[in-house]
Amino acid sequence: MSSDTALPRTPHVQTKLPAIGTNIFTIMSALATEKGAVNLGQGFPDFDCDPTLVQAVTDAMTRGLNQYPPMTGIASLREAVAAKIASMYGRRYDPIAEITITAGATQAIITAVLAVVKPGDEVIVLEPCYDSYVPNIELAGGTVVRVPLTPGSFRPDFGRIAAALTSRTRAIIINSPHNPSATVWSRGDMLRLQDLLAPTDTLLISDEVYEHMAFDGAPHQSAARFPGLAARAFIVSSFGKTYHVTGWKVGYVAAPAPLSAEFRKVHQFNVFTVNTPVQHGLAAYLTDPRPYLELPAFYQRKRDLFREGLKRTRFKVLPSEGTYFQCVDISGVSQLGEADFCQWLTTEIGVAAIPLSAFYGDGFDQRMVRFCFAKKDQTLNQALQRLARL
Ligand code: PMP
Ligand code: GLN
Repeated sequence: MSSDTALPRTPHVQTKLPAIGTNIFTIMSALATEKGAVNLGQGFPDFDCDPTLVQAVTDAMTRGLNQYPPMTGIASLREAVAAKIASMYGRRYDPIAEITITAGATQAIITAVLAVVKPGDEVIVLEPCYDSYVPNIELAGGTVVRVPLTPGSFRPDFGRIAAALTSRTRAIIINSPHNPSATVWSRGDMLRLQDLLAPTDTLLISDEVYEHMAFDGAPHQSAARFPGLAARAFIVSSFGKTYHVTGWKVGYVAAPAPLSAEFRKVHQFNVFTVNTPVQHGLAAYLTDPRPYLELPAFYQRKRDLFREGLKRTRFKVLPSEGTYFQCVDISGVSQLGEADFCQWLTTEIGVAAIPLSAFYGDGFDQRMVRFCFAKKDQTLNQALQRLARL
């Protein structure tokens, strides 16, 4: 056959991520839409953000702030972030050299991993963990070292973390308040980690996207509070969570200047810059601390409403110390495994949830599922009515 008549052929690509398919959040949200179910699966609010914030972004667009911003983020937003961290956690980051605005926490985490992890380096993740960490490490050529959180309580097991640390451990990724278990690390936990890492060259990637959602008066223990951790940490947060704008995808990384310098080398070729008018809107909105200071009480009330309703079901309700998630044990309700149960619950009962097995590399099934309560009271009540049938 001549080259004119041969059908064009797409060359075969050897996958870089053989174990990865479409993520569970996408799958469950699509199923919830198809079945008309109440979507308590994927974590996002079903209510709108503060109109003041929308107005601030609109004003920035109207004022013509629509071209590339500085690579590291606009100065006023970096300054506002540094001021917020200083007032909340007592550590002053230099907004010029130590704060970088990112396209959400997802980009912040992969950029930090790509900046510091080389082939052959080990990176510790604590399972269950957010689904992007493992593929991020694999894309960097690193070796994933999975350390389980204590089964049942999801507390960090420092004996096992200590045993996993080697001379090749380049970084450990932690996440508090924790998705999916809704546990919150204590000051004692952070001090233990600080002691463990002190004699090592291990870096810390601290995923703190739920920093303003710690309940019952327990303060969020940011790595920024602990000098020995802050000195080795990329601290990651997300305005999407704090301001009910998950679709805007803007977050930040705070890290000591030498770490930020390496981060920015990757960042500039990864996204280069982040949405200008949204940055201006956020900078203006961040000058008022009330929205983030009031967030724990806002979500704690929703958590309590949801938990009260769940007590009327045969689910065993686990603690929810932070985040906008609530896990339940399904063993009193169904014989199904977690993933099948979530499919069934969405299809037959009309409420979508996420199986915890999705947060484990080996699909460990402990008969637990996660609900998201970042929803209007009306949505939560509708879901509870349906769940009461179980
Ligand atoms: N880390 C955790 C633990 C999360 O739950 C999320 C939310 N999906 C992210 C990171 C990503 O945040 P963003 O939407 O800002 O990229
Ligand atoms: N963080 C959210 C969750 O855990 C959703 C993120 C996503 O859709 N990738 O549900």
